[in-house]
Amino acid sequence: MSITFTFDLPADEYERAPHSVTCGCSDVEPMLFPNASSSGAFIAHWRATPEDERVVMEGCADPDLCRHYTPQVTPLGIGAHLDVNMANGNARHILSVLGLLPETVSGTTRNPFLEDDVSGDTTAEDFKGRVLLAMAVSPTDEGTPQVEHPTSGARLIDTGRSPVYTERILAALLTLADAAIERGAPIRWY
Ligand SMILES: [Zn+2]
Repeated sequence: MSITFTFDLPADEYERAPHSVTCGCSDVEPMLFPNASSSGAFIAHWRATPEDERVVMEGCADPDLCRHYTPQVTPLGIGAHLDVNMANGNARHILSVLGLLPETVSGTTRNPFLEDDVSGDTTAEDFKGRVLLAMAVSPTDEGTPQVEHPTSGARLIDTGRSPVYTERILAALLTLADAAIERGAPIRWY
């Protein structure tokens, strides 16, 4: 029910980035590793260790639970620019603003919850051009109200879009495009 805009980080850059490992508890002290392979080795060791012998991270609030799950690994310093995520309905709005939404039958009422997910890709340069154009021509986003979609089964509620949503997302997508251009990687959404 959500769509992510992202690009693939070159493998060597991912490897060179410091990585943090946490159990997911909010007050945990992250374990730091100098690169991807050292954090990967830690995770491999974690998986090979019996659950009750696994290390408890400093500040972990629920050792029994956290020892059961594989810790989260996060590359540092680059993660903030790696992806932009949004709900399907909002992603369709953004793709439409960017001229990237595939056309379906015109004149029909679109229900973002009942349509197939959209996905695609384009060069980072093309994507950036579309973002800049959208920033230049789009009127201020006044948002949309919450809407309930009638269906045969479950109640589906479109939570709507807050004012200035479009501007905020376009700014994040511009940052994403610049990061992708720097690395020569195309932008994908899925
Ligand atoms: Zn924990």
